[in-house]
This record gives sequence, structure tokens and C-alpha cells, in this order.
Amino acid sequence: MKEIKNEKLLRNKSFINNEWINSLLNKKFSVYNPLDLSLLSSVTDCGEKETKKAIDSAYNAFILWKDWTPSKRSQIIRNWYNLILENKEDLARIITLEQGKPIKESLGEIDYGASFVDWFAEEAKRIYGDIISSNEPDKRIIVLKQPVGVVAAITPWNFPIAMITRKVAPALAAGCTVVLKPSEDTPLSALALAYLGKKAGFPKGVFNVITTNNPQNVGEILTKSLKIKKISFTGSSKVGKILIKQSSSTVKKLSMELGGNAPFIIFDDADIDLAIKGVMLSKFRNSGQTCICANRIYVQKRVYESFLKKFIIKVKNLKVGSGLNSSVDIGPLINKDATKKILKILDDALHKGAKILLGGKKHNYGNNFVEPTIVTNISDDMLICSTEIFGPVAAIYLFDDEKEIIKIANDTRAGLAAYFYGKDNSKIWKTAEELEYGMVGVNTGLISTTIAPFGGVKESGFGREGSKYGINEYTVLKYICMKI
Ligand code: ADP
Repeated sequence: MKEIKNEKLLRNKSFINNEWINSLLNKKFSVYNPLDLSLLSSVTDCGEKETKKAIDSAYNAFILWKDWTPSKRSQIIRNWYNLILENKEDLARIITLEQGKPIKESLGEIDYGASFVDWFAEEAKRIYGDIISSNEPDKRIIVLKQPVGVVAAITPWNFPIAMITRKVAPALAAGCTVVLKPSEDTPLSALALAYLGKKAGFPKGVFNVITTNNPQNVGEILTKSLKIKKISFTGSSKVGKILIKQSSSTVKKLSMELGGNAPFIIFDDADIDLAIKGVMLSKFRNSGQTCICANRIYVQKRVYESFLKKFIIKVKNLKVGSGLNSSVDIGPLINKDATKKILKILDDALHKGAKILLGGKKHNYGNNFVEPTIVTNISDDMLICSTEIFGPVAAIYLFDDEKEIIKIANDTRAGLAAYFYGKDNSKIWKTAEELEYGMVGVNTGLISTTIAPFGGVKESGFGREGSKYGINEYTVLKYICMKI
């Protein structure tokens, strides 16, 4: 890959106990560039034996790592942070090559991903217990926070760096060790992070990466292992439910960051230009492939026409093309299936009476490209209404009744992110409180930040990542009752 200056970042083997390993049967799988389906790499395809080896190495490392002082752990995590930033340009290009997103977004992802490493390097030193006033004069009651144990992290392809650092940094900070299984679509970013972890000084077995083209098999081994105490997953609700079920046999601690179906409500009193800016950011980032993308855009009657007029102009101006081109806004979708799914949703909507105001077809730039699209006249029975779209397709709904719209916005099994724009103070408070979502953006379309708790309710899962709460996902409470 000529685009990458530091070739050492390009790895194609799994990473176990600080060693690069092939699978025993020397099996490999192909990683393609979604831009043109060219082959990027052949990567080790791990099975049961390698997964168990990774679990064992993480288990052995845990016994030592948990007893390191937090400041010593913090120092190594900070080395990792510095190395990630030193290699920012190359890491960003690896993301764009294997995932497709525009390079300006990949650079942003490195900053965002690194910010979790920075944050949790500090949080490592700020894990506090409690002393509780005793119920008896000759007893003392103490609460400790201890690392939960070996963590299995399973991550998706849409943020191939940030979804990893968001889990691995707090886990290591808390004193846990990790077996990571990245997405089969984007293993190269994960392996580059492992390379930098080793360079940062992670001891053997503290951070292991299992690459595989058979996530079901590896997932089952991870969830059923007695040595793994925690599963942290980001991905679809469908797979999350499988992992919850499988983990029940060994009663693991779980964090589940699952799919969304975000409403984006624009009230009559909203600043329309700001609202459009927010929708553009929330809808079209990563070509619409984020779990907090605006999925249902509700516009109130009085501003509906003026919104549409301005919105169409903005969407028309989006530049589609290769993510490596710094002026491109919309890259390819992750793979053929993703493109097929979007076209099926659009076909279904058209057949049931929807109107396509812009786009609506495959883009002629390449096989994995869909035109930035605007759809209106949507009814409840359409797939576009209930499915997480995950593509550059804006679904616009007209509404009038302000009470009714909250009910409609909440009428979904998902509950990750919601957004609304308006000015009236009491409406802002009430709407923010009544939306059944883990995160609410008010007059903003950008809500992700390391310092705030990211996560959902309902079938969008449970657990929080980032913020002062994030590290709790990797600790357990121990209460000590001491007779004196
Ligand atoms: P997406 O729709 O975003 O691809 P998935 O939930 O399918 O989301 O994938 C997210 C992650 O879960 C990926 O790393 C994928 O390999 C993994 N995965 C998919 N199926 C399973 C499974 N049955 N067990 C464990 N991991 C799985």
C-alpha cells in the first residue's frame, strides 16, 4: 500500500501474547478496498485454537497487570496515545482504504479515538472506593473497585479505530486485559493499533487481537469461556442479542452498544439554517453509516417547504468519490450487501408511494456507491421507517402536532440518539426529558465526545462508554466487612 509511509503499521497476522501469529492451518481471508473492490491484504483467519490461546495469554497477563500501580499503567497507556497521534496520517489512510470514509473524517476519527486513550490514561489514576459509616461499633465497611478480569471486545467496521480505543483504553486503565475481535471488514486498523501498543510497552498478553472471517465461531468461544469475565460489544441489535444469550451460560458482565433509529425533529421555531447544518452532519457523516445518524427527520408544517428547498441545495452539493481525495464528502458504502440493502429500502419506499426528491439510485462512481438521496411522503408500513438506514439517504417526514411527535419519535424499539431543534425554553426541557433515548442533541447534530457518556436504552443496549462513567464498565465492587 503505497499510501502508507510507516509500513510497519501494515500487519496481516493476528496478535497474541505480543507476537504476530498465523493460524495453525495457515488460513487467511481477504480484505478489500470498498472504493473499487481491489484486494488490500490477506489476513490470518483464526479459529478455536488461536482464540483459546489469546484468552489464555490475556488471562495470564491479567494476574500481573492488575497489580501494576495505576500510574505505571497510565504511563504506558499515554505512550500509546502519543504513538497514535504520531502516526495519525498513516492510521487515517488505513481507515479510508479499508473502510472508505473521506480522509477528513478519518483524521477526525484518529483524534476522537485517541481522545479516549488520553482520557482513560488519566482515569486510571482516579478509581475511587468508599468507606461506609458502620452499622456496628466494632466493624468497618470498605468498598473497593477492582478490575473485572479478562475482557473480550467485539467491534464494528464503521469506526475501525475509535470503537476499539473506546473499549480497550478504559479496560486497560482499570487493570483488565483484552482479547479484541475486530470486524472482518476492517482488521488492518486494529492490527496497526496492536503494533503501536506493543511499541508503547504493553506487556505480553495485555492486548491481543484475533482476526477472523468466522465471527460466529470466535464469538461463541469468547462468550462461553470461563476465563473471560466481560463482553463489550458494539454492533447490531441482532448480534447483541445473540451475545447476551450466549453469555448467560457463564453470567458475564456486559456492555452492549447496539443499533439506533434516531429521530431528528425540527420545530417551527427552529433556526432552519442551523438545523440544516445539524442534519447534514448527523445524516451524512461516514456516508450515513453511524448508529447515531438521523434516521427519521421530522419537520414541522410551517417550516417544511423552506427547509426542503434549502436542504436539497446542500445535499446536491455533496461531493461523491474516493475517500482519499480531501474534498470528498461521501465515500463508498462498506460492501456490496450494504449497497443492496439501501437499494431495497428505496425500492420498497417507491412502491409504497414515497417520493424521491433527489438521488435514489446507485452512483456511477462505483459498485458500492449510492447517490445522496432525499425521500418524502413516507408511511409507517415502509422499511425506511423502521430500519436503521445506514446509508446516505435522508428520510423526511412532515408533522404538525407537537405532542404527537414525541410519541412518534419514541415509537421504536431502539433508543440510542435523538435530536431536535427549537427555541422555546420549556419545550426544550420537556422534549429532552420525554425522548426515550440515551443521548439527546438539542440544537446540535454533533453529540459524540469522550467526556460524555455514550450509550443507549431499550434495544439499543446498556452500558456507557467514555466520560467518568465509562471505567465502571470494567470494574466490579467488592465490599469488605472488617471486625476490629
Ligand atoms: P454491522 O451490521 O455493523 O456489521 P454486526 O453486528 O454484524 O454489525 O457486526 C459487529 C461485529 O460483530 C463485527 O466484529 C462482527 O464480526 C461481529 N459479529 C457478527 N456476528 C457475530 C456473532 N454471531 N458472534 C460474535 N460476533 C459477531
